[in-house]
Amino acid sequence: MSKDFYEVLGVSKSASEEELKKAYRKLARQYHPDVNKEAGAEDKFKEIQKAYETLSDPQKRRQYDQFGEAAANGAGGFGGFGQGFGGFGEGFGDFAQGFGVDMESIFENFFNRGGGRRRERGGAQDGDDLRYDLRVPFEVAVHGREYTLDIPQLVACAECGGSGAKSGTKPVTCAKCGGQGRVRVVQNTILGSFEQVITCPDCHGEGKIIADPCPHCRGAGRERKVNKVKVKVPAGVETGIRLRVTGAGNAGLRGGKQGDLFIYIEVEDSGVFERDGQDLYSTETVSYAQAALGAAISVRSATGQIKVDIPAGTQPGATLRLRGKGLPAVHNPSARGDHYLKINIAVPKNLSGKQKDLLLNFAKSINDAIIQ
Ligand SMILES: [Zn+2]
Ligand SMILES: [Zn+2]
Repeated sequence: MSKDFYEVLGVSKSASEEELKKAYRKLARQYHPDVNKEAGAEDKFKEIQKAYETLSDPQKRRQYDQFGEAAANGAGGFGGFGQGFGGFGEGFGDFAQGFGVDMESIFENFFNRGGGRRRERGGAQDGDDLRYDLRVPFEVAVHGREYTLDIPQLVACAECGGSGAKSGTKPVTCAKCGGQGRVRVVQNTILGSFEQVITCPDCHGEGKIIADPCPHCRGAGRERKVNKVKVKVPAGVETGIRLRVTGAGNAGLRGGKQGDLFIYIEVEDSGVFERDGQDLYSTETVSYAQAALGAAISVRSATGQIKVDIPAGTQPGATLRLRGKGLPAVHNPSARGDHYLKINIAVPKNLSGKQKDLLLNFAKSINDAIIQ
């Protein structure tokens, strides 16, 4: 016997649609198998999904309230799962927005299937968004760079212009559903008759039937093509930043919108700097004498070698702030971060006899107690 769906979602039997949605999102985030690696999390996630699929659909919820799970999701042929997934997908659209990049990559599966962003209007279907992962060297975070990427995408078929119908012919309105894409069916079960609206089996929800398919795309209306997409990766980029190229995703169908391309940036390590946003951190070692007397040393900065004055009397571990020598801000290239230079002091080793004498004399001069 499975658990009560209301209990699973932690809501009351009178919970509103909004309350259900809220409870579901909270739990889905908590138990999503990509996030939660605890034993049993996946089962729990499935349970949550199943409960929400049922309760978020007013008709199924009614059936569930009256007859229990078997009536709402059972073998009665209600086609519940497909619809449930659709519902989840729809929820995902605004689900992800509040979370930025991480949450979106977790839901990449749905994302790539277009589960979240696809909208269908009178047979029109928006093109899927595409994801491209781009690894860039550290220098790109300093100067920015333009890339030309090869993006495999679905474009409108060159032959039929996307209609899917052989040239000279047109798709015709589906007779079964009158172009609605959906039909009503009555399901008779031992629990009574239920009326259900289902996707039209003849036209698969498209409302139109292609009698004579385009030979080039075999009626699909789209074909694969590798598109060259130019993208400017701005200076200041960080791992996790996502660039959007509007309209560079898959072509829509039957007048649906073109999808977008999302480029996920990963910035390679410089091997020299630690980075915190626009600020950089590095360590430089100077000699005991340089620290004591002061010196101008050559330091690797984001933009190359620069001269830095080490003041006389610099202590081990001292940090010098090199103003404006950090990375530019993505949206404001003139606003640069700082470079923090930590000073390490090398104590001389393997001294020659002469050097020892010099150092001893020096020690005496500052009244050091020498143990010799
Ligand atoms: Zn075609
Ligand atoms: Zn139809």
